[in-house]
Amino acid sequence: MKYLVKNLRIPVQREQNLESEICRLLNLASLSGIDWKVSRRALDTRKRNQPVFVYTIELVTTMALPQHQDLVAVLDVAENATPRVNLNTPQPFIIGMGPAGLFCALAMVQHGLKPWLFDRGEDLRARAETVTDFWKNGILNPESNVQFGEGGAGAFSDGKLTSRNNDSTVRQVFDILIRFGAPESIRWEALPHLGTDGIRQVVSNIRDYLVSQGCRFFHNSSLTDLTLNGDKVSSITINHEKYNPKFLVLAPGNAARDTFRMLADSGVILEPKPFSIGFRISHPQDWIDAKVYGSKHWTEQLGPASYRLTAPKAGKGTYTFCMCPGGYIIAASSVPDSIVTNGMSYASRDLAYGNCAVVTGVDASVYGNKLFDGMDYQSSIENKAFQSGYPAPYQLAADYLQGVLSSTRIVTSLFPSATPALLQDFFPKAINSALQQGLKQFDSIMPGFIHQGLLIAPETRTSSPVRIVRDKANLNCLGIRNLYAIGEGAGYAGGIISSSADGFRVGTKFAL
Ligand SMILES: Cc1cc2nc3c(=O)[nH]c(=O)nc-3n(C[C@H](O)[C@H](O)[C@H](O)COP(=O)(O)OP(=O)(O)OC[C@H]3O[C@@H](n4cnc5c(N)ncnc54)[C@H](O)[C@@H]3O)c2cc1C
Repeated sequence: MKYLVKNLRIPVQREQNLESEICRLLNLASLSGIDWKVSRRALDTRKRNQPVFVYTIELVTTMALPQHQDLVAVLDVAENATPRVNLNTPQPFIIGMGPAGLFCALAMVQHGLKPWLFDRGEDLRARAETVTDFWKNGILNPESNVQFGEGGAGAFSDGKLTSRNNDSTVRQVFDILIRFGAPESIRWEALPHLGTDGIRQVVSNIRDYLVSQGCRFFHNSSLTDLTLNGDKVSSITINHEKYNPKFLVLAPGNAARDTFRMLADSGVILEPKPFSIGFRISHPQDWIDAKVYGSKHWTEQLGPASYRLTAPKAGKGTYTFCMCPGGYIIAASSVPDSIVTNGMSYASRDLAYGNCAVVTGVDASVYGNKLFDGMDYQSSIENKAFQSGYPAPYQLAADYLQGVLSSTRIVTSLFPSATPALLQDFFPKAINSALQQGLKQFDSIMPGFIHQGLLIAPETRTSSPVRIVRDKANLNCLGIRNLYAIGEGAGYAGGIISSSADGFRVGTKFAL
């Protein structure tokens, strides 16, 4: 029988002898005859200067355990159907080598298929050089950049592996990440993190494995056309060459604007979807640590602190998102003459500044009802930012509230550098008001949030502005039997883990 011990709270300064803590909680003399492991560990920092680890422990035993309010029996159902291997199915094509595309390929390989993967961007090594060239010299390659190329958008990220969901597919994704080089602790840490270095290593290992299993990788290979014949894709164009794949999986990420337009023109059904916009805020990491932990002396034991704040009543809801402790703010554009910011860190997270997005929801009431109105709205903000603040516009948070240009010389962890600008000029009045109210509420929770805060804008790519509509039962694109769409760009996931899980789920469904 499997049990979960929930809510096992141990102050950080107390010795972490989990075995004796479990015995104490359950009133047991020992754990002999019981297999146990940590299922999750979160950190509760609500009481200043008294951080507490909160553990969930999994127990497997044939013994009857004493009743306890924090002990829950769980049904251990065999979660995976036995795969039906079909070696004769023709190679499916997967467009996109981000987390969704790679995990879709891994699922297919488990079932004996050998998909071919195509990405408009370069392989990881060449792509890293191209991205560095962009950050250093401002030379953008619109086909290979922070958003596009092997590894997808997650390759130059903070590598946070958080997920709202913990179903069996997500657990399989974690198992696979560990198999390809991630540390075991990602299975149970509440805020697991690999860093851009860790993610890139895992991506390379997955690619090498897929190639060893007979998959083929085509870099610098852009899907530019698709032809439907009745309820099937009859042909596609990649780099001016026509192909007739029997099955096609689209995993294009949320930045592939030209691809979305091409799909809609070809007759694939898409629908608009709300998303969030705002900016990044940067604070000294020492200050964040002191605010979250109560004192910065906990940092050595707990690592740099993270936070998550919400102001539900500010506009349509303002919240912080994608916190990168000890990390960079990076230029993350994929389109010329536009500015997009995002966060990235290395596994060590040892830089002097932490940053996160402060964003608020937008929908058709802000930008219009047509399919690509939201996407065009994102572009217009990114273009305004480029016009007034290349390479990245900044404003002190206090100056943003006052509506004045900042004159202070700033210090932060930013690629490549910043120019003072009036950020309120990028957004309509209602959005500025929601962001400003949000900042004030965050300041009441973490006093100094405004005074210490530096804003860099804009953050526009929080999620996809469109969804490629899928058949709920079979997961294929609505009305098209041999076309599948997965991951964040398809509008069914947000973040590395959920995009990987979506790819894995669809890959499995497809292969069975
Ligand atoms: C800088 C940054 C930091 C981030 N940090 C985190 C984080 O810490 N944690 C987290 O969970 N998420 C993070 N994210 C989000 C995360 O990276 C995405 O949610 C995830 O990568 C989505 O996976 P995907 O496979 O659906 O799409 P993507 O990763 O976007 O991959 C799509 C791929 O498709 C390719 N493609 C697009 N169009 C075509 C075409 N026409 N032909 C051929 N190829 C095409 C692209 O080149 C790209 O490689 C971050 C994103 C960025 C940009």
